[in-house]
Amino acid sequence: MKKRKWIMNKFALVVKQDDHSHHIAAKIKAALCEGGWTFDLEKAELIICVGGDGTILQAVHQYMDQLQDVQFLGVHTGTLGFLTDYTQNELEEVIQAILTTEPEVYESKLLEITAYGKEVKRYYALNEMRIENVIRTQILEISIDEEPFEICRGSGVCLSTQAGSTAYNRSLRGAVIDSGLSIMQLCEITGIQNSLHRSLNVPYIMTDTRTVAFRSHTFDEATLCYDHLHASLEGIKKVTCRMSNKKVIFSRYRPYSYLKRLKNLY
Ligand code: NAD
Repeated sequence: MKKRKWIMNKFALVVKQDDHSHHIAAKIKAALCEGGWTFDLEKAELIICVGGDGTILQAVHQYMDQLQDVQFLGVHTGTLGFLTDYTQNELEEVIQAILTTEPEVYESKLLEITAYGKEVKRYYALNEMRIENVIRTQILEISIDEEPFEICRGSGVCLSTQAGSTAYNRSLRGAVIDSGLSIMQLCEITGIQNSLHRSLNVPYIMTDTRTVAFRSHTFDEATLCYDHLHASLEGIKKVTCRMSNKKVIFSRYRPYSYLKRLKNLY
């Protein structure tokens, strides 16, 4: 966690599309404007996300080209999330914090995904990238730093960040990674294991300096999923993924307990 001199007074809101979240967002907007802050969609320095972890993901992708200039703060309108710091029951606290406190910042790096076909396409993800094929067995030759690693046969793979370790990765029985570590975690999605074919078959956690490449004789019918978004892989020959220099900056107005969030999961 770092303390950064970054005086902010312009904000924007990204709000989950339900009446309750809009109601909470309207209260925050009115209180901040009354407190001297300016609502400015284009030049905002603080992006307040009202909804859930999915709302933060949406906001990050919305502000992808301005990540170096903005900080994100989440207000959850349900239970506490991993990417959100306050709940709807703490509106007074969050408003007072924004108006009176200089936050610490916590940075979370994004995955950089490159798909090579006739064109080269680039995508970014805070949680994870997945190559998924729900129609037929997807064969993937995986190399790490250009060294052949394994061949996976199944419905695909998920490569997640620390932030994404509690999301799709956890459903694949991947490890939950403590806050503050920067790693990438590779998990198979319903991998086929039999006498003719075996793969590592457990999650592989690697340093964030690695580059993972996925090759296949065909990616047609497979989909590239990155956070809540997706793209077709038709005509693609190779997909690579590494940790990008792009990062999401979260405002932390008070101590963050990762354990408290973990305990909420079960
Ligand atoms: P969504 O509406 O499908 O919700 C998925 C759930 O994952 C929500 O409860 C969301 O709050 C939660 N979530 C998102 N990021 C999280 C994180 N970092 N830690 C813990 N929980 C998290 O989709 P959404 O809200 O737009 O979120 C997209 C994310 O959903 C994807 O990045 C993926 O990780 C996750 N997802 C998980 C599964 C699964 O576990 N089988 C399936 C689809 C999507």
